Parts: sequence; structure tokens; C-alpha cells
Amino acid sequence: MVCIYCKNNTFVTNSRNKNNNQVWRRRKCLTCKACFTSIEEVLYNKYILISTPKKLIELSKEQLFLDIYSSIGHLNRDKVVIATYLTDIVLSKINKALDNGQIDLRRYQEIIFKTLKRFNNIASVHYKAYFMNQ
Ligand SMILES: [Zn+2]
Repeated sequence: MVCIYCKNNTFVTNSRNKNNNQVWRRRKCLTCKACFTSIEEVLYNKYILISTPKKLIELSKEQLFLDIYSSIGHLNRDKVVIATYLTDIVLSKINKALDNGQIDLRRYQEIIFKTLKRFNNIASVHYKAYFMNQ
């Protein structure tokens, strides 16, 4: 990876595995000595397919985030941070439930519903009403 300031090569000074299938890295520029952080993660879009009765749909992390964000709309706290956190939890659970890179739509929706229910019951009710059984 090149430096975000001067575009010269960088080296990794620290690297840690995070629980949600991400690798966090601290980088330092060889030329200007600037430091910054990068995160390596799986590109879920195109690798995870959701099987519906009629067709396979590519999982969209952005759409998943928006569905979760919408479901926690009633909260007064920092919704972007919470939705990002919940999206990572859901993706981690989906990753474990995959069968040959695919997950059934009903199972996909159940994982989101149960994750939201553990966090906030109203969020799970909202999700069920607006996004399940469509
Ligand atoms: Zn630099």
C-alpha cells in the first residue's frame, strides 16, 4: 500500500486480527514517515449468494447496512456506529452459516432478525415488518 500523503511505499508497523474477519494494520511511510491505519476485509459482495426460490442474489453489504440502519431508526443514539457494528456481527454470522458460498434467504433474514432482537426488540419487529417474507 502506498502513502496517502506522498504516494511512496509504506511498511506495516503493527497488525491485529479483529473478531469480525478483518485485519487492522498500522502503516508508516518510508519517505515522509507519516502513519495511518488500514483495514483488510473480505469483499462480501459477489462472494456470498443469497438463494431465493427464483434466483441467486449477490449479497450487498451496503444494502444490509441500510436495512439495519432503517430498523434502528427509532433510536436516539449514534445510528451509523450502531448499524456498522450490527452489520459486522451479521456478516460474521452469515459467514459461519454459508454452504458453498450460499445462504438461503430465510436463513439470511433469520440471522439479521435474531441479531437485531438481541440488541433491541423494536428493531427486530421493524425488520420483520419491512424486510422479511417479501
Ligand atoms: Zn509519505
